Amino acid sequence: MKTIFPPQEDFIRWRRQVHKHAEPGFGEFWTTYFVYSLLKDLPVRIHLGKDIYDRSKMFGTLSAEEKLHWQEEAAKNGVPREELALFEGVTGLAVDIMPVNREDAQIRTLFRFDLDAVPVQEKQDQGHAPFELGFSSVNNGYCHACGHDGHVAVGIGLVKVLASMRQELDYGIRVVFQPAEEGVRGAYGLKHLCAGVQYAVIGHIGMSAVKSRSIVCGSEGFFATKKLKVYFHGKSAHAGGEPEKGRNALLGACCAVMNLHAMPRYGKGDTRINVGILHAGSSANVIAEYAEFAAEIRGINSDVCDDLAKRAENIIASAASMYDLEYRIEFTGMCDSASSDEDLARFIAEKAGEIPYFEQENCLPAGKGFGSDDACTFMRAVQEQGGKAVYCMIGSRLKAGHHSPDFDFEESLLRPFCELFVNTALALDKKTV
Ligand SMILES: [Zn+2]
Repeated sequence: MKTIFPPQEDFIRWRRQVHKHAEPGFGEFWTTYFVYSLLKDLPVRIHLGKDIYDRSKMFGTLSAEEKLHWQEEAAKNGVPREELALFEGVTGLAVDIMPVNREDAQIRTLFRFDLDAVPVQEKQDQGHAPFELGFSSVNNGYCHACGHDGHVAVGIGLVKVLASMRQELDYGIRVVFQPAEEGVRGAYGLKHLCAGVQYAVIGHIGMSAVKSRSIVCGSEGFFATKKLKVYFHGKSAHAGGEPEKGRNALLGACCAVMNLHAMPRYGKGDTRINVGILHAGSSANVIAEYAEFAAEIRGINSDVCDDLAKRAENIIASAASMYDLEYRIEFTGMCDSASSDEDLARFIAEKAGEIPYFEQENCLPAGKGFGSDDACTFMRAVQEQGGKAVYCMIGSRLKAGHHSPDFDFEESLLRPFCELFVNTALALDKKTV
């Protein structure tokens, strides 16, 4: 089989198609089918989400109605129903590219690409290329404002090229198309795909790399995080007639929220806490029976994050007890923190420097992460078993910041991004870093 490296137009077309069909985490039915349909006839092993997800570790999943809605949208947008049924309601897939006649070879390197869009309404405005060129999101309220559309295109290209080079491989290569990165919900249930893997390589467009033709291979400072929803249940009563008969869920929630924000800072590194949503009660003259809020905790490493989460649970339980309420905590997302291994980061920065597109002086082996990314869950899993991991930010001048309604990146980076990962996969197949 001849090596096929798709031309730049293919990457751009795939990116635009994915961009147009922006879907929320765990609702990526159109996108999963798109990837599947382009790869299913290649000599690779495809594992569908339904066969690989650890369902007990999927966080912040969609309700049955929401799931049905996104399946229907996918069908309306051209996914054949019989193919949709194959997924059994679970999005995502992993693809193994194995050496010829060595189906049992060890999987040595894992790449991860994320499939989901952001709950942001895309800008419908001249000057926003997706709008001008007619590929803005057809799904109201969701758009690819984080570059995952580009990641999907690169992942497709990576599998196609490596599948055509199987005769050169000594080890297997795994490419994971992960649902629900936003809100760090999708990685934990796929963490087991890292078992036995020696290298995890993850790329993201932009973030700390905001110069064209640059790359920053580092993730120092990524936060470990936990997202939680908290529900309080008390008892309603007439606020004028007999308020003492009520059990006030609103006050309990407020008490918890104030004290969550009062948790201590840490000597060992940065932390964050935010309660971003709070709903309670039904009327000004009724003691509030229900309250719920959504919060997130971040810590510079997983130990700090876990410790904060434990304190948060304690505060919530204590506030509920003060106001005699029932409560429930639901974790809706979580990811670990991880840093790139220095030698692997240096290796990839050098590999980028060999590709004419990248400007050698702007291929940096170290850099700061940006918020949290559940890629860190894969990175840490590989590092904990003695392997190495790297997070590379592929530089682009950005029209607007990540998660903005007019976010867009330079499409010219897609093919070189893929070329870098192909070269990395082939190099790591032969040598130890
Ligand atoms: Zn992202």
